Amino acid sequence: MKIITVQRKVLKKNDEIAEENRNTFGNQGVFVINLLSSPGAGKTTLLERTISRLRGEVKLGVVEGDVQTDRDARRISKLDVPVVQIVTNGACHLEAKLVQDALASLVLADLDLLFIENVGNLVCPASFDLGEHKKVVIASTTEGDDKPIKYPNMFHVSDVCVLNKIDLLPHTDFDTAQFENFTREINPSLTIFRTSAKTGEGIDSWLAWLKSHVKK
Ligand code: MG
Ligand code: ZN
Repeated sequence: MKIITVQRKVLKKNDEIAEENRNTFGNQGVFVINLLSSPGAGKTTLLERTISRLRGEVKLGVVEGDVQTDRDARRISKLDVPVVQIVTNGACHLEAKLVQDALASLVLADLDLLFIENVGNLVCPASFDLGEHKKVVIASTTEGDDKPIKYPNMFHVSDVCVLNKIDLLPHTDFDTAQFENFTREINPSLTIFRTSAKTGEGIDSWLAWLKSHVKK
């Protein structure tokens, strides 16, 4: 019982800071996405593809959350967009306070769109509001098509699901129809995109959705 009480307090404090972050984003006119997935679903590759397609048209920035290294931030910084790395030193999710601290290293007024790449984990990142406008969960065809029912909370709280690595479908047993049925069971209002961040297939619809949310 004590543990539950502590957890509730932690989440309450987190929600307060998340609300401050959301106000900051609103005041600066930045649309913010919290990118969520298990490790290896293709968050960073999708970001690379997205940035290279939108660069010049939309002013992008990235906050990279990782348990240990800055490898992903190095990949993103090659694309010449502002990127801030948060290393959680073992913690399995980002919290609003970590994001708030990272914002000090970004000029939000210069951005239209900010991606926060969360730690690869389908469990607790679902419970921590960072102040983002939309949560986007990425699943991939190399994972089980039953991910939505195994991790229902993540699919329940997300606004968009990107099913990535569709180029690999011929080589896997992944049942796309079953996957989409499971997601709709958990969350009927989830918007689903099918993409291959590697080949670029399906990326146009994802980019159109993003652009429709960015204030210009
Ligand atoms: Mg990554
Ligand atoms: Zn965690």
